[in-house]
Amino acid sequence: MAVLNLAKNLLIEAKKYIPGGINSPVRSFKAVGGYPIFFNKAVGSKFYGECGREFIDYCLSWGALILGHAYPKVIDSLEKAIKKGTSFGAPTILETELAKLIVEAVPSIEQVRLTNSGTEAVMSAVRLARAYTGKNKIIKFDGSYHGHADYLLVKGGSGQATLGIPDTKGVPRDFTKHTIVAPFNDMKKLKAAVKEHQKDLAAIIVEPVEANYGVILPKQGFLESLRQLADKYNIVLIFDEVITGFRLSYGGAQGYFNVTPDLTCLGKIIGGGLPIGAFGGKREIMRLLAPEGDVYQAGTLSGNPIAVTAGITTLKELKKMNPYEVLQKKTQELCDGIRLNAQKYGVDVKINHIASMFSLSSNLFKKVYHGLLKEGVYLSPSEFESNFLSTVHARDDIEKTLKAVDKVFSALGGSASG
Ligand SMILES: *Cc1c(COP(=O)(O)O)cnc(C)c1O
Repeated sequence: MAVLNLAKNLLIEAKKYIPGGINSPVRSFKAVGGYPIFFNKAVGSKFYGECGREFIDYCLSWGALILGHAYPKVIDSLEKAIKKGTSFGAPTILETELAKLIVEAVPSIEQVRLTNSGTEAVMSAVRLARAYTGKNKIIKFDGSYHGHADYLLVKGGSGQATLGIPDTKGVPRDFTKHTIVAPFNDMKKLKAAVKEHQKDLAAIIVEPVEANYGVILPKQGFLESLRQLADKYNIVLIFDEVITGFRLSYGGAQGYFNVTPDLTCLGKIIGGGLPIGAFGGKREIMRLLAPEGDVYQAGTLSGNPIAVTAGITTLKELKKMNPYEVLQKKTQELCDGIRLNAQKYGVDVKINHIASMFSLSSNLFKKVYHGLLKEGVYLSPSEFESNFLSTVHARDDIEKTLKAVDKVFSALGGSASG
């Protein structure tokens, strides 16, 4: 009760000064009910609330923290970097170093430019694709989230799907007229859409694994056929790997599925928990960017030395560790365990997972969510959002989580049958 009152009071105070009390809508707990927990500390796999409670964190800053919270090498490198100044607005060799790490890791990327968020990366990649092809239209997929640019807030996942907003207010009809939405994993409908619009079609943008609408895997051959269509009709294929980049494999989803796009958007992991984004691809396309070319793109804090330092340290660790197989196994173990408990107690739960990402949906989601929260397990507060494991999530965390799952499901199963 005291814990709930604290959460409520913190939100009431925040709401006085911040719309909804939060700075990004899914954090509000609107999808699960109750009050969001205000956190003040996080270490490794654990999150600590203002209420003093400890939680095992599976949201991990929406996937940004693949090494877990406050990873010692990241913190050390940040402490050193911060003493040298927080922003230069001029080139640094750090930016070259991060760019080189990205180019060496991601198959499609020959050159890369840094931004401050995934949203900016996507906006810039689409602008570039339009300039390169001299065409206007883009195809996106139903349920994909590509950040909050006006013309991409059409049938998006993330906060949109969660909050049931098919579109958003404040975007003129005219701004979305070049955006065509196709169903994910439906080759027939996609082919028809491409044929119909091909004369003015600049780009197809796709989340190779949809991660903001449950974790939806691409059907066998789907990504390959996007590649073929793009080649056939001179369309730029953009992979939005803001979540999957350095998550599915060190080479991202394109490394994992072995399909190479023309442009790639990154974010989240490459900032090691600091604000960042990046887009990159073929040199032939990237050279159109100002100052070499005529496509304007910029940012006061782009390439910020602090964010870039966290990114460099994170990528170097990942490269050295190559943790992807172990992460996959841990995730599999957790998901298998949740499924087993769901069967055991007859609770309707659907789990989708790939690599170290998983989604959990249920007609009892709100109860599952708050039950687990009470047991000290923090999931992403919406069944449409992905959950993540980090390299520091240990066997002990998984065992504790499964114990909590057992307890919560047994209570729910009992209530359903009785
Ligand atoms: C998070 C995300 C974005 C937006 O990135 P921000 O840094 O929140 O602007 C874009 N695309 C995908 C697939 C994402 O998951």
